[in-house]
Amino acid sequence: MISERIAEVRENIERAARRSGRTPDQVRLMVVTKEVPIDKMRSAIAAGAVLLGENRVQSAREKVEELGREGLQWHLIGNLQKNKVKYVFDLFDRIDSVDSVALAEAIDKRATQLGVVMPVLLQINISGEESKFGLQPEELEKALDATRDMKGIRVEGFMTIPPMDPDPQHARPYFSALRELRDKYAKMDKNILLNELSMGMSSDYAVAIEEGATLVRVGTSIFGSRSR
Ligand SMILES: *Cc1c(COP(=O)(O)O)cnc(C)c1O
Repeated sequence: MISERIAEVRENIERAARRSGRTPDQVRLMVVTKEVPIDKMRSAIAAGAVLLGENRVQSAREKVEELGREGLQWHLIGNLQKNKVKYVFDLFDRIDSVDSVALAEAIDKRATQLGVVMPVLLQINISGEESKFGLQPEELEKALDATRDMKGIRVEGFMTIPPMDPDPQHARPYFSALRELRDKYAKMDKNILLNELSMGMSSDYAVAIEEGATLVRVGTSIFGSRSR
């Protein structure tokens, strides 16, 4: 039952938050609905899912057409190509996967034309793996300098995906490294608010919360494994 699994995840979130001296309302649950059919999404929404993560523009469009945007928050969590930027404004409340200054510029340009501000997270490749999208930590200062002047976007924080590893404890150093980066830049520049730390997935969200996650992205623990 999807509702039971969501309840279970919420309990785990609550426990992890309390364990680390935080209150449960400091951690939001993103229900990752990529590759999940509409009927299962409806069950999740009926069970209280509000914040939804999709990784592709095209599939998000089909789902937004079915489910609407009212009462829901749609976030893009997958790689966005610049030629698709024009579509995101009708679909998403935030782009959580901005992985280059060039992409930030493209979103800013379109947003400015539309007269809106698009909230974003910068995706950081904290492990430096070649296969991963994201800004390298060394690029971050320049990226923040560049995005600070963009009127069409608002950087709300960072997102990361640590290396795949069955042992969640192995993800801990990556999570704490992201938190330290956030703290460093939040301190350096009082004009930017870097509140959000999106980190932790089904296998490791409890550890991520212990390390300061404000948003965890959970798919498999709610919907079961995605068939490939
Ligand atoms: C698929 C995905 C998730 C969810 O992963 P699960 O292991 O299924 O919980 C989280 N974040 C991103 C960026 C994803 O692509």
